[in-house]
Amino acid sequence: MNVKPSHLFYQGRERKPVLDQARGVYMWDVDGKRYLDGSSGAMVCNIGHSNENVLEAMRRQMEKSTFGYRLHFETEASEKLAAKTAALCPEGLNKVFFVSGGSEAVESAMKLARQHALAVGEGARWKIISRAPSYHGCTLGALAITSYAPLTNPFAPMMQAMPKILAPRAYLDGLDPEDEATGHHYADMLEAKIMEEGPESVLAFIVEPIGGASTGALVPPKGYMERVQEICRKYGVLFILDEVMTGAGRTGAFLAAEHWDLAPDIVVMSKGFAAGYVPLGAMVAHERLVEPVLDAGGFQHGFTYAGNPLACAAGLAVIDEIERQDMVGNAARMGVRLLERLQGLMQRYAIIGDVRGKGLLTAFEFMADRGTNAPLPKHLRAFDRFVQIAYDKGLIVYARRTRDGVEGDHIIVAPPMIVTETHLDEITEMLDASLTEFTEEIRPALDR
Ligand code: PMP
Repeated sequence: MNVKPSHLFYQGRERKPVLDQARGVYMWDVDGKRYLDGSSGAMVCNIGHSNENVLEAMRRQMEKSTFGYRLHFETEASEKLAAKTAALCPEGLNKVFFVSGGSEAVESAMKLARQHALAVGEGARWKIISRAPSYHGCTLGALAITSYAPLTNPFAPMMQAMPKILAPRAYLDGLDPEDEATGHHYADMLEAKIMEEGPESVLAFIVEPIGGASTGALVPPKGYMERVQEICRKYGVLFILDEVMTGAGRTGAFLAAEHWDLAPDIVVMSKGFAAGYVPLGAMVAHERLVEPVLDAGGFQHGFTYAGNPLACAAGLAVIDEIERQDMVGNAARMGVRLLERLQGLMQRYAIIGDVRGKGLLTAFEFMADRGTNAPLPKHLRAFDRFVQIAYDKGLIVYARRTRDGVEGDHIIVAPPMIVTETHLDEITEMLDASLTEFTEEIRPALDR
């Protein structure tokens, strides 16, 4: 382990290679080693690195202005990006609030939902139901609706406990995800939870339409998303989609909501929204929520950097590039091919227990035994080890432990939306070699 002393600190003591350059789907460290960015960082750099048109738009904006405080000035960049975003969201979702990242976007959605309840005389509503496992951010509000024990436990006494329902993991429960009865089985847990909490106290339900860091590219079973939306409507509970990871094209539609023709009350985006060029996120709310809040005196919330003109100019240029190069279409097409390749690897490697995903958000999960869904033993730290092996071979992938309270490791493969078939070949070859090495390494532990 590389443990040179440093003034920087993030998670642990281990040091990482120093990044030098990045172009398209590739990155180079200062020693000249090349990496294929097979997870777009943390599913962020969706349009690839160093896109010239985005850099040019940023240069032009920097020459005009780099900061205008949102309570002093509007800017052409923020106005244009808001209009463009609204045009790409479902009908009525046309009020856009800019922030600098995913957690900020989630916090903003929570607070707008609450202020809306107050504005319409429903002040008893404050509970936000979310799922276990889920990831909605690291700030204390977003963490309260996150369910992932290692991240939440240390801070539990500092947070307001919020109700949770199980995320639908049909593959672990032996249920058929293509059967609507499966979707309804899990969705009905939301109705039961609303009844248990008291419908008059429930403010909102928030969900990652396709799992990200929490469940690893897990696509909900048939009928699930439509049913949870219906239940929310029935009880006057706001329906919030956390599209921080899925938004801006990654799943083969601009919003994952389009796969089920959903009409959420609020959508949050970040990551791919400015594709890593600048810190940027957006909360997009239905006008029927925002108008009463504005009438009641305004939204009591906002970050200093919100609507930063440089960030908005970059975000606008990113969306232009996504459209100009039909990256959403490419994500849909290449996603199908990538999933086929992962399924091919699953046939050859017994330690892959499940393959899943949509568009270019795909994953595989390690299991010691497919028959019983038994995970690999925890002490192997499979998610860490596999990432390191792939990294040494020049492939970047993203990994997490999948199951809240249960062991399990998933590896997310989510390259930039500009990938070609040749890049997919390269990814598959490096995954193949990494799986061979990893299988050899853990064989003694599994044979025991
Ligand atoms: N929501 C989801 C679904 C996410 O995947 C993430 C980031 N992994 C966040 C919220 C938080 O975003 P950020 O790290 O930009 O604060």
